[in-house]
Amino acid sequence: MKRVFYFGEGIAEGAGLGKEKLGGKGAGLADMTALGIPVPPGFTIETSVCLDYIRTGDLEGLKPEVEQALARLETATGRKFGGPKNALLVSVRSGARSSMPGMMDTILNLGLTAAAVPGLAAAAGERFALDCRRRFLQMYSDIVLDVPRSEFEELLTRRRVEKSAASDADLTAEDLRSVVGQYEELVRKKTGRPFPEDPREQLWGAVGAVFRSWDNERAKTYRRLHRIPEEWGTAVNVQAMVFGNRGESSATGVAFTRDPASGEKRFYGEFLPNAQGEDVVAGIRTPRPLASNGSGTSLEETMPEAYAGLLSVRDLVEKSFRDMQDLEFTIEERRLYVLQTRNGKRTGFAAVRIATEMVSEGLIGEDEAVGRVEPEQLVQLLAPVFPLREKEAAIKADRLLARGLPAGPGAACGRIAFTAKRAVEMAGKGDPVVLVRVETSPEDIAGMNAAAGILTTRGGATSHAAVVARGMGKTCVVGAGDITVSEERGELSARDLRAKEGDFLSLDGTTGEVILGELPTEPSEILRVLIDRSLAPEKSALFGAFTRLLGWADRLRRLGVRANADTPTDARVARLFGAEGIGLCRTEHMFFGENRIGAVRQMIVAESEKDRRVALAKLLPMQREDFVGIFREMGERPVTIRLLDPPLHEFLPHEDEAVEKTARDLGISAEKLRDRVRALSESNPMLGHRGCRLGITYPEIYETQVRAIFEAAVEARRQGLSPVPEVMIPLVGTKGEFDRLKVLVDETAKEVSRESGETFSYHVGTMIEIPRAALRAAEIAEHCDFFSFGTNDLTQMTYGYSRDDAASFLPEYIEAGILPDDPFSTIDQPGVGELVTIATKRGRDARKNLKVGVCGEHGGDPRSIRFFHDAGLDYVSCSPFRVAVARLAAAHAAMTGSSGVSSTA
Ligand code: ADP
Ligand code: MG
Ligand code: MG
Repeated sequence: MKRVFYFGEGIAEGAGLGKEKLGGKGAGLADMTALGIPVPPGFTIETSVCLDYIRTGDLEGLKPEVEQALARLETATGRKFGGPKNALLVSVRSGARSSMPGMMDTILNLGLTAAAVPGLAAAAGERFALDCRRRFLQMYSDIVLDVPRSEFEELLTRRRVEKSAASDADLTAEDLRSVVGQYEELVRKKTGRPFPEDPREQLWGAVGAVFRSWDNERAKTYRRLHRIPEEWGTAVNVQAMVFGNRGESSATGVAFTRDPASGEKRFYGEFLPNAQGEDVVAGIRTPRPLASNGSGTSLEETMPEAYAGLLSVRDLVEKSFRDMQDLEFTIEERRLYVLQTRNGKRTGFAAVRIATEMVSEGLIGEDEAVGRVEPEQLVQLLAPVFPLREKEAAIKADRLLARGLPAGPGAACGRIAFTAKRAVEMAGKGDPVVLVRVETSPEDIAGMNAAAGILTTRGGATSHAAVVARGMGKTCVVGAGDITVSEERGELSARDLRAKEGDFLSLDGTTGEVILGELPTEPSEILRVLIDRSLAPEKSALFGAFTRLLGWADRLRRLGVRANADTPTDARVARLFGAEGIGLCRTEHMFFGENRIGAVRQMIVAESEKDRRVALAKLLPMQREDFVGIFREMGERPVTIRLLDPPLHEFLPHEDEAVEKTARDLGISAEKLRDRVRALSESNPMLGHRGCRLGITYPEIYETQVRAIFEAAVEARRQGLSPVPEVMIPLVGTKGEFDRLKVLVDETAKEVSRESGETFSYHVGTMIEIPRAALRAAEIAEHCDFFSFGTNDLTQMTYGYSRDDAASFLPEYIEAGILPDDPFSTIDQPGVGELVTIATKRGRDARKNLKVGVCGEHGGDPRSIRFFHDAGLDYVSCSPFRVAVARLAAAHAAMTGSSGVSSTA
């Protein structure tokens, strides 16, 4: 079996064999060679060898094939590997199936033995030869012999300081000779033997080390984060060296065929004259632009032939690979060589623009364009932004307070509020507010909603703040542990910086930076067109591209996409983002409103059904109005309204001061209110008196809500609308619960119909969020029109983890590989997913046209959406700001097997 593939002089044995076999780099080198692009010759050892080698530690069997390829390389270059004069030098480069930039190792100038230095010096100059030798000693010793790079750097720096040289380029041949001597001595001291001077020993040492680098900690972490399978392995590329460090007519650089930040079709990149490989990224010298910018330093101006060559390469690779490419090139004495091409990483903005423009250019089809954009990338397009210039200036002025975890992308700037209450008050005065808390809790919702941004000093990516902020589409930074918050003093501090309530704070939720003071923000272009209407659609190319792309996605997807929306405003946003209905309207969120919480509390403290009904009567018209507003926004689209779900104590105050004030408002004694709070307190409220259990024990609460829904439907019909309310009963575990409440709903519908003389259609369904309900789905489905999986509670109860407390152990579980993911972010397919599958099957077997959807957080998570698609669900429902993400993810799920997706990750 052939395992080594030669490329050179327009011939590539591996052309078309692909990344799986040759790794991304090897495949690119082979394909470019076959296209006639100038690539230094070499050969690729395929990926399958990597894991074999890691297992056995043996490369013997590979030697004949490598020797053969090496001989061919010698013929092609007219040089001899290990030859004394004009020696063949090679690079030994790693290259996995999907790019893992900087994660694995590459060695340059291999074969440059001490004996070969004079030959190279005679041909190309002594300083150059010594510079190559120095680089080789350093890279090889670091990667193969485990002598840390830093020790070499130290020697080099010392020399530079002694000679007052500004950079390496100012060191003379003599300096370098002495540095090389010190390097050799360092290796002898550290390894107990001289640097290996047999070129074949060097080659095999390097090949083995590159294969082993697949298993280094950095690479492993990267794979875990990017979900790259362990068993892929890396290929090794051995390639003749070309030299960008051969004087001022030589250079090395990188180029993108289109702008990776904006997607604009312009050639974008930078280069360094007289430099090798890693110098560009190392940031030692400031690179220069490729295209002319009038400064006279660009590649276009200084090496026009090479620039022209690059331009034609740009065309060729885009046409051939049909995607934006990221190129690495080297120019040796004005001759251009291309060393790498791969699909370039890009921002969400660029992904959308490039995909749609490539369709217009006829490079790719519409389906392919849909596959080119990661659903999650769309979030970037919606987030407000800080102009980069402004942020950099602020950091330079020492205003960077801390860095936390970026939890809600975007930019927010506002006055600091330390409590939800203050946030609401301050926002009410028209000030933008940043809510700063140690952690947030459900009581903070109103404050979070009023705030432009949310900052917590504790908690991770699944903390309450992060989850709620994501749902609301708010900018959020969590876990900024360097910041100390004192709520009493109304002050926060970090480093030697301090801020008080009312001071300005700026959050970058895309990067996690927390900056003191004000920074200007701009709302995203998409929102300006879609929601604020402050920008005309035809004026925004980005909006045009976004809309086109999602239109194509809609054509491909099977899964419906609805939104979770509690208010007419949310419903409007959801509709504008393309939601096909409301999958979850949480009535209790309305209860927290300014003029309602009083009536809600009055209902809770009521001692008799009669008193409760008095309070409920106050709530009824308010709820009715909310529902009319939502129906008006949604037209004929279905609206699923969930009846009261949380335990009642969540609506009562707990702190002494608040209790006293509330008691005064309610006209009862503080003692009495305290008694009620005590009576309602539970050991495990999330497993306690909530959901349909409230509806069973206080039927008048559900009755009022249902009445509000149906009266709203009547009202909406009178306004010429045809709403389809879907009444959803939460937390059902048994058929008995559901059937009893279903009767209540039907009875109420009849009453409203009788009173109003109007008929209206409605559905009654249940959430499936208790494992028992999933198992007993067949009997529950009997009188039930729809199921909606409440995957948050279902996950909580299936695992027996409390979502609010799991942060204390989940990170460790994930770190240790006990769990592959946070099950509250991405559905646990084997466990919770099986319950979904079982319930769907049993439910539909019992009731053929049962509608089945998902309304948990998972409804907006692309990987979970793929599962829900496969499980045959009818729709997912997610927060309004994730509707676009879900539409795209549903399209991806429907076109399984499409490529492209991972390449643009
Ligand atoms: P990475 O995967 O980290 O990008 P590469 O294998 O691409 O590593 O090597 C890094 C750099 O080394 C390249 O960008 C290129 O500049 C330089 N390099 C690699 N091989 C050669 C070669 N044969 N001739 C000249 N420079 C090379
Ligand atoms: Mg590279
Ligand atoms: Mg629930």
